[in-house]
Amino acid sequence: MARLTPRALSIAAIVAAAGLLTPLSAAQAKAGFTPGAPGAGDPYFPDMGNGGYDARHYSLSLAYDAGTKAIDAEARISATATQNLSRFDLDLLGPLKVGKVKVDGHTAKFERTGAQELVITPPHGLRKGRSFTVDVTYSGVPQMINDKALGISGWIQTHDGAVALSQPFGSATWYPVNDSTADKATYDFTITVPKGLQVLANGEPAGTRTHGATTTFRWVDKQPTASELVMVAIGHFDVKDTRTPSGLRNITAVDPAAVKSATASDDFNRATADIIDWEQKLYGRYPFGSVGGIDVLAPAVGYSLETQGRPVYARRSAGAIPSAGLLAHELGHQWFGDAVTPAQWKHIWLNEGFATYSEWLYSEQHGGQTAQQLFDQAYDSPDTDWSGKVADPGRDHIFDDLTYTRAAMTIHQIRKAVGDKAFFQLIKAWPAAHRYGNATTAQFVSFTEHFTHEDLDKLFQAWVYSEGKPAL
Ligand SMILES: [Zn+2]
Repeated sequence: MARLTPRALSIAAIVAAAGLLTPLSAAQAKAGFTPGAPGAGDPYFPDMGNGGYDARHYSLSLAYDAGTKAIDAEARISATATQNLSRFDLDLLGPLKVGKVKVDGHTAKFERTGAQELVITPPHGLRKGRSFTVDVTYSGVPQMINDKALGISGWIQTHDGAVALSQPFGSATWYPVNDSTADKATYDFTITVPKGLQVLANGEPAGTRTHGATTTFRWVDKQPTASELVMVAIGHFDVKDTRTPSGLRNITAVDPAAVKSATASDDFNRATADIIDWEQKLYGRYPFGSVGGIDVLAPAVGYSLETQGRPVYARRSAGAIPSAGLLAHELGHQWFGDAVTPAQWKHIWLNEGFATYSEWLYSEQHGGQTAQQLFDQAYDSPDTDWSGKVADPGRDHIFDDLTYTRAAMTIHQIRKAVGDKAFFQLIKAWPAAHRYGNATTAQFVSFTEHFTHEDLDKLFQAWVYSEGKPAL
């Protein structure tokens, strides 16, 4: 770390007096103010995230135009410099136009470079440890991502509005962000839509105000959230704001076009409550301020996502409410993926394995097949693909079967090796140990071995670090 010395200051003053350079640029050069890295170091997604600062809070204000589908927006990002910063990047993807950027209220220079960099040069360098705010005004029609291997994500238009689903990337299609799983932040949302439409987001509602032809919804998300799990949904919804039997606030929303049954909204709210209360017994205290879910018709999507506190079940056509197994999966993610988030994308089996195992445990404890039977089926199935490593699936394979089924099989093998008593303690202790933070495969391996006092090296070597079908 280089500190600004009095000597550097005096040189700067001399240089400035000579009219050659501004005092700060000379001082900064002397004190080692350098640009933040344009990526956060994830080998699968080198452009995602940025270096040099830690984003703490995002305050996102958006006005949505239902006619043009455009947003007119302002993002305020509160951050702390983690190095002496001469400039830094945010991630921003697609056709959105940036109007103005300010750092601590002062107009800053900016340019868009590379695939997704919004490069911001503040008028003064930012000293390591210093808190600062960045205001970005921007507008346009956000464009979703359609990745050849990973499918659709980002700001997605639905039949009557939009929904933001951003795993692994996509948040940068609708707001400037440090788009790294490792830089969690809190959020608040102020979203203005034409009167008659509803808005849901992460966290809890904080007021609604109608002004003429528009309504503004505020939501506040008080627990650290990874950008991939940030969600906004705009459309017509039947919203239920209730409590689960254990007392958790439970806000669900059903798109009337997504479900056929007249009781769907109540059924979905109750099913969510039942599953989350069951999972609290398995995984420990629910980590967020409220739970819920959004059942929405989004013909482009056809998948569900564990957006923090409030998963989105996006479907291509109308049908029944999500199955108990699907609810168990997405709500199980609240502990595995949301409260504890992979430090890099290669560790995603820690999300999907536990979410899939939540389905297995739900089945086992509700009169269905046991986890052992589900394991046996997958182990014997000719369809199980044994190529690739669970702990390092590769960029294009993070959503393949190996991070789901083979990861769940791995978890079942741990259960068999350590016994039910230790296993059911472990699945409470692990998410509690890393709540609101990040974790890696290596941390999970060492935590599991320490916690259970078992040497599981052979098991992990065979099931997560190697290719091929492990012997039993
Ligand atoms: Zn999942």
